[in-house]
Amino acid sequence: MKRRKAGIGIFVIVLIITAVRVKSMDSHRISGRILAENIAGPGMLRLVEQSMQARARKTSVTEIAVKERKHPQAALTFDDGPDIRYTPLLLDGLKERNVRVSFFLLGEKVEQYPELVERMQKEGHLVGNHTYHHVQLNKLNETKAREEILKTNNLIYETTGVYPLYLRPPFGAWKKNLELCVEMLPVFWTIDTLDWKVQNTEKIVRTVQEQIEDGAIILMHDEYDTSVEAALQVVDELKNQEYELVTVDQLILP
Ligand SMILES: [Zn+2]
Repeated sequence: MKRRKAGIGIFVIVLIITAVRVKSMDSHRISGRILAENIAGPGMLRLVEQSMQARARKTSVTEIAVKERKHPQAALTFDDGPDIRYTPLLLDGLKERNVRVSFFLLGEKVEQYPELVERMQKEGHLVGNHTYHHVQLNKLNETKAREEILKTNNLIYETTGVYPLYLRPPFGAWKKNLELCVEMLPVFWTIDTLDWKVQNTEKIVRTVQEQIEDGAIILMHDEYDTSVEAALQVVDELKNQEYELVTVDQLILP
């Protein structure tokens, strides 16, 4: 009976420790989210530009961040999806390797393939916005540009239950005043693989190898077999080089 009581006692202590841990993890996650919500909106573009410039100059802030981390980090990002043929193959390969990436989706394709978007979310990937029709935002008036973004956000929210905070503007074309009316953080890239143009696995992998550095954001498209093959090879190679593969929010809000 005593042993049983002691057993119950230990079980209760373990439960309490677990509960405290889960709670502290939660508050960490929530504070990151609040931070993202606070910096999104007015002035966010400047913040991102500053952090990118700081990274390029390798200022002390970047050096401190790098010193605190054990491994260099890189983020794989995929635009223009989801693609009914190739996105599932990419998701399978990433799952096998236990790696999370960031997807910037077109609203019209979210509407077509909601089950793929749901899978992305379920498997821990970051789901971001790439406008509804792949439009060049700086060529549209503010109402139209806002519509392109918000319609896609709403579709993603309806599908995943999570309202997107990150947006990749097609062609990297961001409209300066847009930050005042959409509360999102634009995410650009540091390595353009030109995968859609070369459609050659070896060349895509080589481009990444030549340009990889800590904090890299790699731009790819999950609508070609060569891109999916290249992405999975890049994952294996970066892992061999001790890189930690993260989603873009982890790079922007470390
Ligand atoms: Zn695109």
